[in-house]
Amino acid sequence: MKTRTIAIGSQKGGVGKTTTVVNLAAWLALLKQKVLIIDLDPQGSTTRCLGMNGKSDRGGLQEVFSTGALELLRQDNIQSFIYPTAIENLSLLPSNILDADTEIWLNQRAVEDPDVLKNVVDLALADYHFILIDAPPSLSALPKMAFAAADSLLVPLQSEQMALSTMPRLIELIKNVQQSVNPYLQIEGILLTMFDSSLAYSQALLAQAKKHFQGLVFNQMIPRDHRLSEATAAGRPVVLYDMHSAGSRAYRQLAEYLVQRHHGAPAETKVGSIE
Ligand code: ADP
Ligand code: MG
Repeated sequence: MKTRTIAIGSQKGGVGKTTTVVNLAAWLALLKQKVLIIDLDPQGSTTRCLGMNGKSDRGGLQEVFSTGALELLRQDNIQSFIYPTAIENLSLLPSNILDADTEIWLNQRAVEDPDVLKNVVDLALADYHFILIDAPPSLSALPKMAFAAADSLLVPLQSEQMALSTMPRLIELIKNVQQSVNPYLQIEGILLTMFDSSLAYSQALLAQAKKHFQGLVFNQMIPRDHRLSEATAAGRPVVLYDMHSAGSRAYRQLAEYLVQRHHGAPAETKVGSIE
C-alpha cells in the first residue's frame, strides 16, 4: 500500500491544526482509507478530541520515544501502541505527555535522535493509506521531527486579520524546513480555516494567500462553524456529532480531493460506515 504521510503544522497555535487532523482523518477513514493519526503535540488535544485522555495502559508517544524502544517495537510490533477509535479504519498513536517534565524530555529526545519519528512511521507504513501527524506549534525539535518524517506539509491558515502579517513568516518557515530538515518535503497545501466569505478580511487573506502561494492554496476552505468546536469539546470528530454541518461537509470535500490526488479512485463510491 502506498502511504501518504502528511504533517499538519504551523508556527502559530489556535489556527485549526487539531480540528483539521481529527476531522480530515475521520472523513478519510469514512472514505475507506486506512488512516493513522500520530499526536505529536504534547498538549494532547487531538488525543482528547478522539475521546481518549492519554492515560492509556499500553502507552503512547512517551513509550515509543524511549531510548531503545525502536528495537523492541521492531520485534514487538508498533501496532501494540496504536489504538482503535470510534471510527472504523481510523487509528491513533496517542500523546500521553501529561506533565511539563515529560514534555521537556520529549523535546530532548527529538534533539538527540531526530529520526526516531521517521523510524516509527516507517514501521507503520505498510498498514495505512494516510498517516497524519499533528505537529506542535513551535520551531522546536518536535515539529522538525514531524517534517522530517513526512512526505508533505499541510498548513492551516486561520482567516483573521493577523494572518496577513504572519504570511511572510510562514513562507520563511517552509523554506527553512525544506532547506534544513527535509529537502523532499512537499507542500500538500495551504488550508484556509475559520473562513467567512462575508468578511472583507477573509477575502483579502484569500487573495494574498493565492498571490504568495499560487496553486498551493486548496480551493476547498473550511468555514467558521461552531459545530466543529462543539464536536471538539465533546471529544468527538464532527462526523459523529453533526455529520451534515457545513464544517463537516468541507472536511469531506477536502478528504475526497486528497483521496483522488493520492489514491486515484473516485471517492464518491467509497464511503464507509460509522461503527
Ligand atoms: P490548533 O490545533 O492549531 O491549536 P484547534 O484546532 O485546536 O487549533 O482550533 C482552535 C480553536 O478554534 C478550537 O477551539 C476549535 O474548536 C476552534 N476551531 C477550529 N476550527 C474551527 C472552525 N472551522 N470553525 C469554528 N471554530 C473552529
Ligand atoms: Mg492543536
